[in-house]
Amino acid sequence: MTTPPVCNYEGSDYQTSFWDKGGREYEDRTEAIALKRLLPKSGRLLLELGAGAGRNTPRYLGFDRILLLDYSRSQLEQAQARLGKSDRYVYVAADVYRLPFVSGLFDAATMIRTLHHMADAPRALRQVKSVLGAGGIFILEFANKRNLKAVVRYALGRQKWSPFTLEPVEFVQLNFDFHPKAVRNWLKDVGFTIEKTLTLSHFRMGFLKRIVPIGILVFLDSLFQWTGAWWQFTPSVFVKAKLENRETGIVEIPANPVAFFKCPDCGHSPLIDKKDHLACSNCRKKWGVKDGIFDFRESIAN
Ligand SMILES: [Zn+2]
Repeated sequence: MTTPPVCNYEGSDYQTSFWDKGGREYEDRTEAIALKRLLPKSGRLLLELGAGAGRNTPRYLGFDRILLLDYSRSQLEQAQARLGKSDRYVYVAADVYRLPFVSGLFDAATMIRTLHHMADAPRALRQVKSVLGAGGIFILEFANKRNLKAVVRYALGRQKWSPFTLEPVEFVQLNFDFHPKAVRNWLKDVGFTIEKTLTLSHFRMGFLKRIVPIGILVFLDSLFQWTGAWWQFTPSVFVKAKLENRETGIVEIPANPVAFFKCPDCGHSPLIDKKDHLACSNCRKKWGVKDGIFDFRESIAN
């Protein structure tokens, strides 16, 4: 089975260079506000897709347990160092196009600054649907190609691609911006109902960040976020979507995370716990478990 290419942050210092030292306090704080506005007040098990180094994880306060998923093992190790090893957090290295979970497992999922790297976004969204239970909530952030800067540049002839057409634009390899309507269409096709849309980063401009105190920009952005219900011209958009009722119903969440998983190759579950790996009794593949991280990217050679 072939899957689209993955943008791999293995060994990346993204957390430090982009967030901690990159002057992104404004973006980080506006995301915290949006998450507070969109997240359910409580829940059992939340799937964080593209969790990276766990920057947003402490914000999922109302949830009993959180499963952090990332393609990069080293990002998850940074998250472990930040959040600690406890039953509250489960760490999984896996490909979003081949999610290793039994269907209907989660009551919520988030995907923030991650769809941005998806060459086949609808395929990734179908995977998210398959692991959410009936009535499941999905909070999705995407980069908006129809942002004000792109519109102005296009109008002035300084940008070739149109911000108004529905196809994604890949401005750097495996970095995609999407049209809000295209994302809405994909979500609806998959079976989601969109409940809320917030626009973020209205003031993501270097000169503003230099002359206006961050607290004021964050406050103004928090007011403007609600305008996302009517129009979206900011570089970042958050959507809260709900999965329509369907046959799976609500799945009992097992205490032992081993029971969360299915074989990403053949779909078989349950997997057998062999301590340093999980074994599939159907296709005989083995999936590594090391230092508290389940690894479903590639099976271990027999
Ligand atoms: Zn298998």
